[in-house]
Amino acid sequence: MTTKIFKRKSGRKPEEMRPISAKVGIIPNADGSAMYQSGETIAIAAVYGPKKMHPQHMQDPGKGVLRCTYSMLSFSVTDRIRPGPNRRSTEISKIIEWAIEPVLMIDKFPNTVIDVHINIIQADAGTRCAAINAAAMALASAGIPMKNMVSSIAAGKLDKTVVLDLDKYEDSEFEEGEGSTDIPMTFTDDGKLTHIQIDGNITKEQLKEAIEMAKKASKKIYEVQKKALKDTGEEK
Ligand code: ADP
Repeated sequence: MTTKIFKRKSGRKPEEMRPISAKVGIIPNADGSAMYQSGETIAIAAVYGPKKMHPQHMQDPGKGVLRCTYSMLSFSVTDRIRPGPNRRSTEISKIIEWAIEPVLMIDKFPNTVIDVHINIIQADAGTRCAAINAAAMALASAGIPMKNMVSSIAAGKLDKTVVLDLDKYEDSEFEEGEGSTDIPMTFTDDGKLTHIQIDGNITKEQLKEAIEMAKKASKKIYEVQKKALKDTGEEK
């Protein structure tokens, strides 16, 4: 029996992610900042705070508030995006908060807010994962205590093949057979999931395979994040 070798348009193997890089300390005015790049997708994150939460009625005496603001800049895609918040950016901002909050020791900062502004300066799919990776590094570089680092990557399915890290073509234009399924995920450095979304259909067995593939890749991302933090002497 011959096994069909699945060929991705990018030439990547099913379990191959795009080239990644990371840098910490890119915005001197911020309390912490970082850049994370995956292929053609680039996210930059800047942390301001912890600072007193205003208005006062939004203060939590039990813990600080993590407030993430995700935006895709107008020129980040070829057909310019209308500037300003929209439904998608509001949803992704919340998802970034939920993915990071479990590792953040935010109870140490009652009545405060930690603002994280994430800008996508170039988008080729996987922007929420890049945003989470940049934001987590920026928070660590701001000296916010964290139980773990988090690393985010999508796996998914192209027709019947489980693949890692879908690019824009695979995410939005791939139409062969069963089409594509995109599953962004976030893992702690000890392998626990803090976030998973599923856009499309997938069987239980293939979902397990996709999670394992992403978990393995998250360890590689963690090493890159750790090195970027170490290079500035700001390792968590
Ligand atoms: P993610 O970027 O996390 O994969 P989506 O699946 O919503 O999130 O988006 C996939 C990709 O589609 C984005 O990375 C970007 O390249 C493109 N995209 C999203 N929204 C727009 C938009 N309003 N205009 C043009 N391209 C967009």
